[in-house]
Amino acid sequence: MSLPSHHPGDTLLIDYSGGALCEGASLVVATHLAFCPCCRRLVTEMDAVGGALLEDLEPEPLDPGCLDALLARIDREETARPPCRPAARPVPKPTETAARAACLPEPLRGYLRGSLDRQRWRFLQPGMGYVDLDAGRSATTRLIRMKGGVSVPRHTHGGVELTIVLEGGFSDEFGAFQPGDVAVGDSSIEHRPVSDPEGCLCLAATVGGLTLTGPFGRFLNRFINF
Ligand SMILES: [Zn+2]
Repeated sequence: MSLPSHHPGDTLLIDYSGGALCEGASLVVATHLAFCPCCRRLVTEMDAVGGALLEDLEPEPLDPGCLDALLARIDREETARPPCRPAARPVPKPTETAARAACLPEPLRGYLRGSLDRQRWRFLQPGMGYVDLDAGRSATTRLIRMKGGVSVPRHTHGGVELTIVLEGGFSDEFGAFQPGDVAVGDSSIEHRPVSDPEGCLCLAATVGGLTLTGPFGRFLNRFINF
């Protein structure tokens, strides 16, 4: 497996390291880290710097009621919310006997119930389906599967869309994306992705809206709730 050539970038890695990303975006970055030893090393360094900065902070005297309030808040948040930073582990090498879902990186596999074929795939457009993942409400987090040669209508993004390729690949005006590659889309980017002949399986987290801009896209906008 070749190493990824499209990376999330320092800003997203710093936010991931600091736990500032929403769960969906964090899952995309953690999945990239499973493919990318370079970004894994960067995040390890960022974690070390962040830890050292915390250790350097002078302790401040606390209000007597502050600790109780903090512990109560941690209790509430722990029961209400899954951890915001899924841990990344390297992608296991596929083996002859490995089930297909077992080849997906661990932070993602934990969000699936069983193998890919057992997911409840929904229709998005001809040759394209998706499964919604339960990764918090701050982002729409989906697995997206495309048959070979499918083109997504030209669109731009009302918010930020992070997409990572898991299997196969796609191309757009910005290059070719292979397993482990991350495409970052925002309102400054308008593109028309086309899947490779062998098809494409992606994980996408969209924070904010996605706006289709071509004539077919404007028609589809009425049905797609990204
Ligand atoms: Zn990377």
